[in-house]
Amino acid sequence: MTSRLPPATLAEATGRASRRRFIGAAGGAALLAMAGVARGAEAPAKLKPMAGSLDLSQIDVVDTHMHPLKRALISQSYARQAAEFGGLAVPPGDYPGRDALAAYTQAGGERQVWTAPRRIGYFDYIARTYGVPPTMAGFDSVTSKHIGSDADFRRYIQSVLDRERVSTVVLQAAEPTPAAPDTLIPAGRYVWTTLATDMIKPAWAIERGLTSIADVAAAIEQAMEQAVANGCRGFKSMLSYQRSQALSQVDIRAADAAFQLLRAPAANAGGPRDDRSPPPLLGGTTSDAARPRDATAAAALTAYEDFLLKRIYMKAGALERPMIIHLAVALHPSLRVDYNDPRPLYAVFVDPDIQKARTEFVLIHAGYPAHHIVGAFVSQFANVFVDVSFFSKYPGALLDVYRTLLSLGPSEKIMHGSDANTVPEEIGYCAWNSRAVLAKVLSEYRDSFGWLQSDIAAMAENILHKNARRIFNIV
Ligand SMILES: [Zn+2]
Repeated sequence: MTSRLPPATLAEATGRASRRRFIGAAGGAALLAMAGVARGAEAPAKLKPMAGSLDLSQIDVVDTHMHPLKRALISQSYARQAAEFGGLAVPPGDYPGRDALAAYTQAGGERQVWTAPRRIGYFDYIARTYGVPPTMAGFDSVTSKHIGSDADFRRYIQSVLDRERVSTVVLQAAEPTPAAPDTLIPAGRYVWTTLATDMIKPAWAIERGLTSIADVAAAIEQAMEQAVANGCRGFKSMLSYQRSQALSQVDIRAADAAFQLLRAPAANAGGPRDDRSPPPLLGGTTSDAARPRDATAAAALTAYEDFLLKRIYMKAGALERPMIIHLAVALHPSLRVDYNDPRPLYAVFVDPDIQKARTEFVLIHAGYPAHHIVGAFVSQFANVFVDVSFFSKYPGALLDVYRTLLSLGPSEKIMHGSDANTVPEEIGYCAWNSRAVLAKVLSEYRDSFGWLQSDIAAMAENILHKNARRIFNIV
């Protein structure tokens, strides 16, 4: 991609917080001259995250949701995402014109990744922080200095966390591991959560030689106990990548009958609906296209999952660890609005067994674009929480999300998160956005609605770190 140096961006790049760094950086002065920006131009004061008289950059941040970071350049990460998105738009099989279609969708995938607001805001953040052009090459020039070794990368992560006062991150393990994931995030700066829903795939039980639903449920509960004994702070559900959140009541006999049917080789005979996917019961992917074609097998799979899912929800409550539920649609073409509809969760929240287990639920990514419904749930149920992860990459969407969630509150239920999953800078960028957007929204409460400075200060502290410390047991 060619360089993109609009004067507005460079004016920001000379901004208040990073002006010294920018001017001091090699090439900084030349860049300013190139764009016709006066040397020493004053910082746009509005970039300072002030909520009334409170500077939010002085408040610690806990990031409630992020994924393993990659020791790679942003250009490599974005190329991988563009190829993945482009690939999903090519129907499977061999047919005339397939290669030409793949080239067309690949170009579309690149445009989607490159022109998204998350990319523009992110590159501008890197530009004003490091004094580089807001381009792929500019960004890569920063990261390339820090990925040569594990030690370099560890220092890089720490520098980003320190720069944006991110005290702790909640790292989501990539696998349903009962042990702490390998990471280069410095010790003491992270806690971890694990993946629960991989354990409700029939393949998980079949691989372990389990033959009855009672044994499967016991093995899952034991894995959850083990995870907690090893320090796990929560269990994530990826259900909405494959199916709806609706939970039917399945008794143990019906669940066992479903399992026996699923274990029989005939259950896989119909194959997945999409032949790019492995047979659903043996492998499975995060795509709904991997669910069985055969109606009987599909119904058995749902019954099997529902029985185990309820056991997982109850066990999480018993272990005093939250269920973390992916709920949002954006960017990734596999995500479906109907599967991410929060409405079926009402039945989960009022299920008497789950209520008795006192399970807490964290609906991550705010349920976007159904964040109004999620905001309503948060106001209704004391055990339902929400984070803004992923949407903190999009300040415009974040403004909408924070306004909506805070309009009903309580602020004790709302948390910052990033959903960072590539270059560590994303953690810092999302923290920066959260402070900037909160400053705007909280100032509105003070200046337009007459709330006290102490009220909005408490809201900021809750959202940026206090709630996450309580829910994920971070000291
Ligand atoms: Zn995530």
